[in-house]
Amino acid sequence: MQYPEPIAKLIDSYLKLPGIGEKTATRLAFFTIDMDENDVATFASSLVSAKKDLHYCSICGNITENDPCVICVDKTRDQSQIIVVEQVKDVMALEKMREYHGLYHVLHGVLSPIEGKGPEDINITSLVKRLQQNETVKEVILATNATPEGEATAMYISRLLKPAGIKTTRLAHGLSVGSDIEYADEMTLFKAVEGRQEI
Ligand SMILES: [Zn+2]
Repeated sequence: MQYPEPIAKLIDSYLKLPGIGEKTATRLAFFTIDMDENDVATFASSLVSAKKDLHYCSICGNITENDPCVICVDKTRDQSQIIVVEQVKDVMALEKMREYHGLYHVLHGVLSPIEGKGPEDINITSLVKRLQQNETVKEVILATNATPEGEATAMYISRLLKPAGIKTTRLAHGLSVGSDIEYADEMTLFKAVEGRQEI
């Protein structure tokens, strides 16, 4: 027996989410059918509006309703530092620390030869362009995760920026190897930023 089309379509939609298999998708679909109608309407409209109203900042790649994002337009922030992170969630983690008042650049990924991801597949060109157009930046802090791909990406960017005379630093090893910035607590992040070293 096949499911009626509306539920089959719902299962297919859930299947598109990361880490969701057939069994979980089916469970979620049936759960949705049993949900309160208003809750379902809110859920559906927040999905649509998150997609429609959010964009990536054309300067830093952070997620935002307005372009440029609030961080890029905030002239009270220290314009001499840029922290380079892998993903938007890392910006949130570093902002929660409340100790960093500079700018950000989100790569949306890391270099990964295994996955066939080269420099053109992540947000590196825009970083170089940004630095060329903006002489106030004195330091680029490479805060990619402490994974082999994160390290290789930091090294690549550092080599790329060296000839331009921009100081590049790497977060201190308070973060354990293989750990993700997004899961680090505020104190660990603070120490990692404080103890950063030039590379
Ligand atoms: Zn921005």
